[in-house]
Amino acid sequence: MPVTRDTVLDWMRRFAGEMEEHRAELVRLDTAIGDGDHGTNMNRGMRKALERLDSAEQADAGAVLKTVAMALVSSVGGAAGPLYGTLFLQMGGALAGRDEVDLAGYVEAWKKALEGVQARGKAEPGDKTMVDVLIPAVEAMEQASDLDTALGDAVEAAERGMHATTPMVARKGRASYLGERSKDHQDPGATSTYYLYRSAAEALSG
Ligand code: ADP
Ligand code: MG
Repeated sequence: MPVTRDTVLDWMRRFAGEMEEHRAELVRLDTAIGDGDHGTNMNRGMRKALERLDSAEQADAGAVLKTVAMALVSSVGGAAGPLYGTLFLQMGGALAGRDEVDLAGYVEAWKKALEGVQARGKAEPGDKTMVDVLIPAVEAMEQASDLDTALGDAVEAAERGMHATTPMVARKGRASYLGERSKDHQDPGATSTYYLYRSAAEALSG
């Protein structure tokens, strides 16, 4: 299935569903190394995003993602709102005005999203953040030969990236205040980003 307005809408609905379903898990992870709000933040933000998506029709995939970005930025405090807002805004900009996006266009949009997150948050690989999921997932997609395998490979890479955050010492965000004590905990933002890929794969496989 190509990336279209409808598949992106489906993706966002599925992601909102994942944030609802995994709210408690994300709260638990953030309670261990942060302030415990990541699950409630993401769930609230994506509910707001769905309300806005339902209240007006979006012309294309870019407009869908911009609507989500604005909803997150305006309803989610803390680090994750602006970071996810940037991710969706950059991706939306890359997809704007296009009806059907192929693998190359989709990978390009994910690269823009990753660049935006890194420009805003300044996180490098190994800092124990969502970037540790985004980088391997985008790399996996770059190596793929078609959209279906791209997403499947991205989900696998995202899952490995998420688990790889566990032994890391946090160097960005609230968890970095804990220093060495942030070790042996999976990063909450990396975990929500894994769900972002999982929902993308489900949406694109129908
Ligand atoms: P807050 O830390 O403000 O309470 P959240 O709990 O919603 O915000 O989100 C925390 C997550 O945000 C972390 O688990 C991490 O993955 C991500 N994060 C924090 N700071 C950065 C950063 N500078 N760059 C990328 N991701 C970050
Ligand atoms: Mg938090």
